[in-house]
Amino acid sequence: MPGGVGSRLRLGARVRGPEDVGDALVEFLVGSLVPVAFALDLAGRIVAYHCGTTLPCSGEPFNPAHAMRVDAPGVKASGVIVAHAHEGASTVPFEEDLAATQALMLQGRVEGIELVDHIIVAGRSWRSLREATSLWG
Ligand SMILES: [Zn+2]
Repeated sequence: MPGGVGSRLRLGARVRGPEDVGDALVEFLVGSLVPVAFALDLAGRIVAYHCGTTLPCSGEPFNPAHAMRVDAPGVKASGVIVAHAHEGASTVPFEEDLAATQALMLQGRVEGIELVDHIIVAGRSWRSLREATSLWG
């Protein structure tokens, strides 16, 4: 990840909840529609990250198998957080975002990786779909 993003997103940083990364994601994703994904270990530490994950709103075909594949050399990732930005000011998820989240969850179950959260960034705001939807039950 490029420098200046903030220590919240560095390798080894502990993620206890979306508030640990939301503001940093706003800084990182500003002006970009390329989704990102972070792999976490069992302790919630970032062990790998991946920019260019294929998610809705990126203009790329959605591919959940690719989205959940975040390389973490030598480390078994147990969870993944994905994030993407909206062009406008609204962090309200589109239907495609909800469908994508469900597809990621299913793919994660196949691979033994939990989808920890899906965060949408818009302007200076962010929204955790884990907190804002009932998709996680
Ligand atoms: Zn979206």
